[in-house]
Amino acid sequence: MGKAPRDVSFSCGCGTVQGIVRGASPSTGTHVACYCTDCRVAELYADQPDPLSKPVHLFQTSPDRIVFTQGADRIAVFSFGPRNILRWHASCCGSVLANTLRNPKIAFASIRTPLLSDQDAIGKVVTKAFMPNPGGKPKHKGMTPFVWRMFSQTVASRLSGHWRNTPFFNPETLEPVAPVTVVDPDRRREIMASLR
Ligand SMILES: [Zn+2]
Ligand SMILES: [Zn+2]
Repeated sequence: MGKAPRDVSFSCGCGTVQGIVRGASPSTGTHVACYCTDCRVAELYADQPDPLSKPVHLFQTSPDRIVFTQGADRIAVFSFGPRNILRWHASCCGSVLANTLRNPKIAFASIRTPLLSDQDAIGKVVTKAFMPNPGGKPKHKGMTPFVWRMFSQTVASRLSGHWRNTPFFNPETLEPVAPVTVVDPDRRREIMASLR
């Protein structure tokens, strides 16, 4: 902790899509390691390397901190169901960029940390989500700060109208800026069945 917020650039794997996370720091977002199956399946669906048993690292912050500076027309989005979270990726090379909820008024976005040019800015992992727990429900570690921060950021941005300041949704229509591809359940099952 104690790191001053700083602007951190990010880029998809091929460099076509570029942007900035404004004021990234351990106090402006949460560094999360997510072990859920959908995050892993999303990587495979997007033709990215299999994370295997490793978690997917995300920096959860408010969408008004995320700005695309190049290649915004290459941003695509898919989801594993009509109500599931939106998984934004780069259509150029497939890189999974970020997740958002479907309702832009719940102002939160998680950006994939490997895309960030400065890993140090966001600090260490503070939340481990969906850790495998043989024989039981997946466990969460450090969930309280994560939930609290998400809630307080959401309330703050709702009150101030900051949620309209998002690169992922049209602020007037509230529609996602790219058409959402709902992944065929058979395709998802096929990927699930191939997991080791
Ligand atoms: Zn996940
Ligand atoms: Zn790319």
